[in-house]
Amino acid sequence: TPVILWLRQDLRLHDQPALIAAAHEGPVIPVYILDDDTPGEWRIGGAQRWWLHHSLTALAEALAEKGSRLILRRGKAVEVLDALMQDTGADTIHAIRHYEPWWRKAEAALGDKLYLHDGNHLARPEDVRTGSGGQFRIYSSFWKALQNHLPPEHPHPAPRDIPAPATWPKSETLANWDLLPTKPDWSPGFDEDWVPGEDEALHRLKTFAKKADAYDTARNMPSEEGSSRLSPHLHFGEVSPRTVWHATSGTTYHKELAWRDFTDGVVLALPGYATDNGRPKYDALKWRTGKDAASDLKAWQTGHTGYPIVDAGMRQLWTSGWMHNRVRMITASFLIKHLLIDWREGERWFWDCLIDADYGNNSVNWQWVAGTGVDSNMFSRIMAPLTQSEKFDAADYIRRWVPELAKVPDAAIHDPEAAGCLPRGYPPKIIGHREARERALAAAAAL
Ligand code: FAD
Repeated sequence: TPVILWLRQDLRLHDQPALIAAAHEGPVIPVYILDDDTPGEWRIGGAQRWWLHHSLTALAEALAEKGSRLILRRGKAVEVLDALMQDTGADTIHAIRHYEPWWRKAEAALGDKLYLHDGNHLARPEDVRTGSGGQFRIYSSFWKALQNHLPPEHPHPAPRDIPAPATWPKSETLANWDLLPTKPDWSPGFDEDWVPGEDEALHRLKTFAKKADAYDTARNMPSEEGSSRLSPHLHFGEVSPRTVWHATSGTTYHKELAWRDFTDGVVLALPGYATDNGRPKYDALKWRTGKDAASDLKAWQTGHTGYPIVDAGMRQLWTSGWMHNRVRMITASFLIKHLLIDWREGERWFWDCLIDADYGNNSVNWQWVAGTGVDSNMFSRIMAPLTQSEKFDAADYIRRWVPELAKVPDAAIHDPEAAGCLPRGYPPKIIGHREARERALAAAAAL
């Protein structure tokens, strides 16, 4: 009897323990289910639909080379899998374990037909716990405890071929899923920067590994390509974290890579973390709402705040589906503290625009910047965007993403308004830094 391989955010053939186990048992039916129902409001966002389309295309080709196929289905995952088992006579499903709350529910509903394998983390999040069995609140303590589980197991190579069933079940076609944007078609900026799929993930990893030594300092500089840019590949599981770990060296890089494990540990303990403040005290915070707040939110989303570093980041996000980590912190802090707009508004915008949007990583980072989370960061810590921009030498980055400022010299580019050289077409600051800071501190003090 055939065995079902349920693929989700693990679109790869190398280091794929669920595939290895399935192939061991019998003919394998690999299936990807586009499920816009089970995740509710956290269904895959616009940018990631573009990625998914190309990643599934690459995966289908890779499977075909091994004598297999990718079956595509749409609907509620549990129902689709039940129907597929009836169609094919399969009574077993193999899959890699995921920690999004909706996937955990779906996994539970499938009961003992489902065999789960570990493969998308350095260690199982449920194994890295405090002495009393709880989730670590602070990353540094988590990292210390993770040492007991490191290094991770060596990755497994892709199987040479994959046993095929005598007859294949029906598959939908990718073109019918309409995952690619049409009106407007914003994909050219994505095409320029990204190639989804396992081959490119492994290629990017190889290229990055050669320059990983410079990561310690280069990663903070938005004008340089100092980080690995593996985040969308890691989110879709086109490369496994174990593969990344063993291909790279350097504590700083490994420590960043382990953040993914930490954030899944947080959402395992607190499944509603994308909507609920980690510290309930902040439920009473008076976020700005109404017409002015809505127009400020729009200015932030479209990169028209008058703060060049913020606008550059937001336009990089819109155009290429990705944003540099330091600039993610600056733009998020600006929305929450300078504009006093609820962090969940920004989190949702990122969810729709990021090609690496990830339930754990996005929610934990937004709450970390907000200071509403389980960790020790404080709401009163307010980043100064202009100082950050200068300190991390963002001039070239700003010129690239904000063309109105392309001719502004280095000395004026971080704050052209103060330097008296605001070019036509670029707005003055939406709010002054000091005024914004005082408003945010007053809102926090009122709690
Ligand atoms: P590198 O520096 O090369 O790091 C390697 C890998 O480690 C990354 O690909 C990523 O998987 C992981 N990683 C690194 N830093 C973090 C971190 N702080 N938290 C979690 N994982 C990390 N990352 C996402 O993958 N998805 C998100 O939705 C996301 N939302 C974010 C929202 C905000 C407000 C902020 C401040 C950060 C967010 N991040 C998110 C974390 C981080 O910005 C990205 O992982 C990183 O910029 C990706 O670039 P890279 O692959 O070059 O990272």
